[in-house]
Amino acid sequence: MNDVLIIGAGGVGHVVAHKCAMVPEVFGRITLASRTLSKCEAVAHGVKQRTGRTIEVAQVDADDPAQTAALIRRSGARLLINVALPYQDLALMDACLEAGCDYLDTANYEPRDVAKFEYSWQWAYQERFAKAGLSALLGSGFDPGVTNVFTAWALKHHFDEIHTLDIIDVNGGNHGKAFATNFNPEINIREVTAPCRHFEDGRFVETPPMSLHQPFTCPDGVGTYEIYRMYHEELESLAKHIPTLRRAQFWMSFSPNYLKHLEVLGNVGMTRIDPVLYNGVEIIPLQFLKAVLPDPGDLGKSTKGRTCIGNVITGVRDGRPKALYIHNICDHEACFAEVGSQAISYTTGVPAMIGAKQMLEGTWRKPGVWNMEQHDPDPFMADLNAHGLPWSVTELTPQQAEGLQVV
Ligand code: NDP
Repeated sequence: MNDVLIIGAGGVGHVVAHKCAMVPEVFGRITLASRTLSKCEAVAHGVKQRTGRTIEVAQVDADDPAQTAALIRRSGARLLINVALPYQDLALMDACLEAGCDYLDTANYEPRDVAKFEYSWQWAYQERFAKAGLSALLGSGFDPGVTNVFTAWALKHHFDEIHTLDIIDVNGGNHGKAFATNFNPEINIREVTAPCRHFEDGRFVETPPMSLHQPFTCPDGVGTYEIYRMYHEELESLAKHIPTLRRAQFWMSFSPNYLKHLEVLGNVGMTRIDPVLYNGVEIIPLQFLKAVLPDPGDLGKSTKGRTCIGNVITGVRDGRPKALYIHNICDHEACFAEVGSQAISYTTGVPAMIGAKQMLEGTWRKPGVWNMEQHDPDPFMADLNAHGLPWSVTELTPQQAEGLQVV
């Protein structure tokens, strides 16, 4: 049977559990495990109400491979879906190797004490997974994830060579809070305060955080937002796997209000990740900040508006220049109506379910450790349309593509 173990009962875990339960022809027994059992129970209750399916729940410390391996065996899982935090990636891959289980995640490994993420640690598992006949799929969220598949699909069907790639992630939603992040605040703030890196002429170039920005008008009336160039992990794997790429950049929208709060929090030391002594106890300011900020998993009730995430791609086809924009628009309120979550959790959780589906069905299951763009994009693209994240393609002129003008 296609039994799965989902680790992490936060905003994304909530969506993954619901979406897997909605595809009973593929997903057999579903076990949801996390550090806090009550969160798993709350998700299981929601799944039962919305889908009628019963899922199992368990408590686990995902930092302990032996504990997770025992749970994998008990649950009978063939595949572990890791939607805990990037800190747990390696411990969970170790657990999968120990218990003989496939692995999938949505974010690459990050050590706790350095705000640095890269694939080298997980790519180093390639031989061990291949030898064990096990398969690992890295980065099966939206970005990374769908953005990698959009690129692979464009290369397969529309280009002989891809030369430039701009991934543009706009959240046109408003949650009505003074300040909140759309996914885990600790991981989100570490990501956006890091120096920017983009790929150009065969190497990564570093620039100060948020130093380059421009307005971007989304299609379909989603609106115009200021987008900021920043580093994102899919740039690393795409630059490696698409050798014709000359430039790859990632952009994300931020409101002036978000940036103002972040600047003040940084200035007063609340985004620090080194321990400080408080009343004789060591605390990490950013972890404390997470404890007082709104839980991203609870933002669904109040969030209105839409997300618009897509790729502007240029290159050549039959010797002629060509440019495309491939994107998805997702409505926060529609996500809440379907599964009780806002669109950021939804746009991450749905691709995690779809990646898991490809692995269980065998279309994307080969021994070793793989990034999304290394698999055939077609079945994944078809499933995006079938499971809640429909996409569109627009032809652009090379000038429009260079200016990131998609409407
Ligand atoms: P949350 O903080 O809401 O949820 C994380 C969950 O993991 C919590 O339930 C937490 O438990 C659990 N957890 C943390 N540490 C452990 C541990 N040691 N053992 C067991 N469980 C643990 O995060 P999100 O749901 O917002 O994000 C989940 C993942 O998705 C992150 O890795 C994030 O980077 C990734 N992501 C990827 C995106 C993409 O497009 N690729 C976009 C957005 C997010 P507890 O409740 O006890 O704290």
